[in-house]
Amino acid sequence: MSTLITNARVVRPGSDAPEDGELLDLLIEDGKFTRIEAGISADAADTVIDAAGKIAFPGVVDAHQHWGIYNPLGEDAETESRACVQGGVTTSLSYMRTGQYYMNTGGSYADVFPKVLEATEGRPYVDYAYHLAPMSKEHIAEIPSLIADHGVTSFKIFMFYGSHGLHGRSVDQSEFLMTPEGERYDLAHFEFVMRGIQAAREQLGDKAEHISLSLHCETAEIMSAYTKIVEEEGTLQGLAAYSASRPPHSEGLAVTIAAFLADETQLPNINLLHLSSRKAMTAAMRMAKAFPHVNFRREVTIGHLLADIETAYGLGGKVNPPLRPRDDVEALWEHLLAGDIDWVVSDHACCKDEKKFAEDRGDIFAAKSGFGGAEYLLPGLVSEGRKRGLSWRRIAELTSLNPASRYGLPGKGDIAVGMDADIALVDPDHTWTVRPEDSESTQEYTPFEGFELGAKVTDTFVRGQRVLADGSVSGSPAGRYLHRPYK
Ligand SMILES: [Zn+2]
Ligand SMILES: [Zn+2]
Repeated sequence: MSTLITNARVVRPGSDAPEDGELLDLLIEDGKFTRIEAGISADAADTVIDAAGKIAFPGVVDAHQHWGIYNPLGEDAETESRACVQGGVTTSLSYMRTGQYYMNTGGSYADVFPKVLEATEGRPYVDYAYHLAPMSKEHIAEIPSLIADHGVTSFKIFMFYGSHGLHGRSVDQSEFLMTPEGERYDLAHFEFVMRGIQAAREQLGDKAEHISLSLHCETAEIMSAYTKIVEEEGTLQGLAAYSASRPPHSEGLAVTIAAFLADETQLPNINLLHLSSRKAMTAAMRMAKAFPHVNFRREVTIGHLLADIETAYGLGGKVNPPLRPRDDVEALWEHLLAGDIDWVVSDHACCKDEKKFAEDRGDIFAAKSGFGGAEYLLPGLVSEGRKRGLSWRRIAELTSLNPASRYGLPGKGDIAVGMDADIALVDPDHTWTVRPEDSESTQEYTPFEGFELGAKVTDTFVRGQRVLADGSVSGSPAGRYLHRPYK
């Protein structure tokens, strides 16, 4: 089975690639790129597709999603991966933990992770892998086997669960997280997670570069106090109230603590997730200077780059960390254009209307956190990035090569001979308005409703299979689990 894509403006990451790409043909055989040059004869392939000058980006490696957080995992794996291909996403990395939501179970990952894989198998349209959060001492002991036996090379800490639930009101921690009696999910636990990961890195030397820790940086105590203040004062409403209840300095402080612990435990591969504010970015840049031997990566979401508390469509824009006022959005763009951001993700978490909103639909504190957005990832970044002078090449780095490199996927993230033929074809001159009914996600609303985007993904290929054709999902689910490191 071979496919030839002709007349594509091929955009590659890396400093020796042209900023605006170059017009080339792509020959794909058995799911890999085998020739990349101008003027490949049509006789070379079974199928020929004329890209008509559209931009060919390397398929997006969306390093931050949440399949199965609010809906059954297998269901999300299918429907939300259909939304993925609309956004040019060809690899989904999803966060998974034990406790309430997700699989709604406690216990060891030796028991739980095979169930995760079983529930997902055969359902996704895109390739996929999972990051796991060690929630207990038992999980820390499992880290070497998760890496060696299951190919899970990335782990997560949710810093704000210290005394805060998922949605902003305190709950009993061990009941919520289903952790063993007598154990705490707190700063000391985070330190021992880091020690556990670093010990595994030393033990599994050849895999060490692919093993990393991601942190959701918010401070539980600051959030609890400010949530109370904002609720008692009652002067702010909606997304403005939510942003004030989880203030930017709560992020900055958590970033600082995370960096200190990384230094203390000698764990160099640290990913600071979804930085949402000027203060969070300032703290992250300061920590990079203070601890130059820590190999930080800094992530932002497309939601925080596109929407602010005024422009997001309704309370559906509730997310952690919160959408922010415009000045914070502009700060993220300043840092992104300065090269301080390593990758852009969707943080896709499909939360259907009936789950998202409380009986009082106007109660921001009772609403659930998170929303989908993988379908707007590449179109959103191309549209807004172009207005601000972001090059195509840089977009390929931010959406593909950089996350693939950090997360143990050297076989993904570039358009190059021998690599998986993952491609997103983008029409850069197609203006359209975001409507939730046009999305394949099962989420009925979107905080981006009414946003005008200036670029559209028309075709998506996963290992050479055309899973989005002329704007419509096509073919059957052929996504594979990626045992990392994946070459
Ligand atoms: Zn998070
Ligand atoms: Zn997330």
